Amino acid sequence: EQPILQVEHLTKHFPAGKRSVVHAVDDVSFTLRKGRTFGLVGESGCGKSSCARTIIRIYDPTSGKIILDGQDITTLSARQLQPIRRKMQMIFQDPYASLNARMTVRDIIAEPLIAHHVVKNKKEIDDYVYPMLERVGLTREHAGRYAHEFSGGQRQRVGIARALVLKPELVICDEPISALDVSIQAQVVNLLRDYQQEEGLSYLFIAHDLSMVRYVSDDVGVMYLGQLVETCEAEEIYKNPLHPYTKGLLSCIPVADPKVARTRENTGVAGDLPSPVHPPKGCRFHTRCPYAKPICSEQVPEMKEAAPGHCVACHLYD
Ligand code: SF4
Ligand code: MG
Repeated sequence: EQPILQVEHLTKHFPAGKRSVVHAVDDVSFTLRKGRTFGLVGESGCGKSSCARTIIRIYDPTSGKIILDGQDITTLSARQLQPIRRKMQMIFQDPYASLNARMTVRDIIAEPLIAHHVVKNKKEIDDYVYPMLERVGLTREHAGRYAHEFSGGQRQRVGIARALVLKPELVICDEPISALDVSIQAQVVNLLRDYQQEEGLSYLFIAHDLSMVRYVSDDVGVMYLGQLVETCEAEEIYKNPLHPYTKGLLSCIPVADPKVARTRENTGVAGDLPSPVHPPKGCRFHTRCPYAKPICSEQVPEMKEAAPGHCVACHLYD
C-alpha cells in the first residue's frame, strides 16, 4: 500500500527557560499506510500529543520531515497549508474543551465547510450537516442545540462530525475516548471503525492504553519520553513484545490466554517518567528498566529490525 503519512526523524523541542529545552518529540519515524490505522501508545507525558500536533502543523517542527500523501508539508507556511488542512483533521481528547459552548451544533460542523469555501449558502450547509449528523449517530433535531446541552459521548460525536465533514484522508485521533464513560467508549470507537471501512480514510490513533490500540490499529508504535522505542503490526506487539517498556505496559492488561500469561514477564513499569527537560543519557528508559546493563546509561540504542517488520530500540537486541 501507498503511505498516506511518512514521519521521518521528527523532532519538536520547546524552550524551557533561557538555556533548556523540553525534548517533547525526538527523532520519531514511522509510516502510516493508506486506509489503515497506526496506534501511537505511551503513558501520559511521553510526547504523543506533541507529536500529533506537530504532524498536523499546529506546532512547527524543530527538525525532521512530514510527508502527507507524497507531499512534503514540513515547512509550508500557514497560507500554503490551508488547502492541505482539508485532507488532515484532528479529533481531540476532551469534547468539553474542544467545542465552543456558545455555538450550535450546526454552526460547529459548518465552520470548516465555510472556512474551506465548500459551501455557499444555508441550503448547502444543511446538505452536508444533516447527513453527517446521522452518520455519527445524531439526528437533524440536534442541529439547533448547543454543545453544552449534550453528554460527553454526544459531544464527541459532534467533534467527530466536524472532523469528518470535509472528507479528510487522514484523521488524528488524540485519545478520543479517554474522557468518556467506559460504557460509551466502544460505541465511539466502533463509529470511527465503521466510518473507516466505508470511506477508506487513515487514522493516527493515540492512546495510553494498549488494549484499545489493539482493537483499532493495524500497526503500533510505542513511545517513551519523546522517542519511539518499538514499532510493528498490532497483533505482533501482543504476541511478541520486545522492548522492556512495552512488556511493562502489557503486564497491566489482563490476559485471557493462560499460556501467554505464564510466559510473560510481569515487569510492570515501576517509577515515574523522568523530566523531558533532562532526559536520561543513553537509553532514556534505563532509570526504570529491570534489564538495564552498563552500556544502557552510556549509549543510545538505535532502532533496528529485530524480526521481520518489527523494530525495537534496545541494547538487548544488539
Ligand atoms: Fe532496558 Fe537497556 Fe533496553 Fe534500555 S537499552 S530498554 S535500559 S535493556
Ligand atoms: Mg495527550
